[in-house]
Amino acid sequence: MTESGMKIRALTVGVLQTNCYILADDKTKECAVIDPGDEAERILSAAQGYKVKYVILTHGHFDHFEAAEEIREKTGAQTLIDRLDYDLLLSGGESGALLMKDSLTPKIDGFIKDGDELTLGTLKLKIMSTPGHTQGSCVIICDKVIFSGDTLFLESYGRCDLTGGSEEDMRKSLLKLSELPGDYTVLPGHGDRTYLSYERRFNPLMSL
Ligand SMILES: [Zn+2]
Repeated sequence: MTESGMKIRALTVGVLQTNCYILADDKTKECAVIDPGDEAERILSAAQGYKVKYVILTHGHFDHFEAAEEIREKTGAQTLIDRLDYDLLLSGGESGALLMKDSLTPKIDGFIKDGDELTLGTLKLKIMSTPGHTQGSCVIICDKVIFSGDTLFLESYGRCDLTGGSEEDMRKSLLKLSELPGDYTVLPGHGDRTYLSYERRFNPLMSL
């Protein structure tokens, strides 16, 4: 926990080992669940003691949203995604349909876009659009932490060959991230955490 009251819990969930994050404000006991890819019960028990205000999806792939609707139903949270990934989400999130059950498609309460700022207790969550992995991919910035979804990974980045993906967009998005002033802890949608200062030096698309 930081001075601001920001508290983060990370859980790795589902078949694709997605990192789900619970971002909480310990002062007001509100939290946001970022990318609840699976295992709703586990996520809910990790969020116990907090009011889930938002479920935020960094993009519309199934491995980032399959537990969203159950969490929304059980907590009354608002589920948010960039409008540009809405069709992708409705079509099953590139799941190959066999993996998907209709009941797992989350209802969306609102759309987020570049520059939006969400209030979570005493915390401010800034949305930055980072297309490349999908058209509607975004990252969430809170204090000195970036929740980077499938945009930025440790020494890597999300694949650009799926629906809506673009390596050119990814390059621009990573450049935009690298130009943020100072250092940030980066909490990605898959794999280990990293730091922006480290990625500026070692990420294959950032260090060119
Ligand atoms: Zn993805």
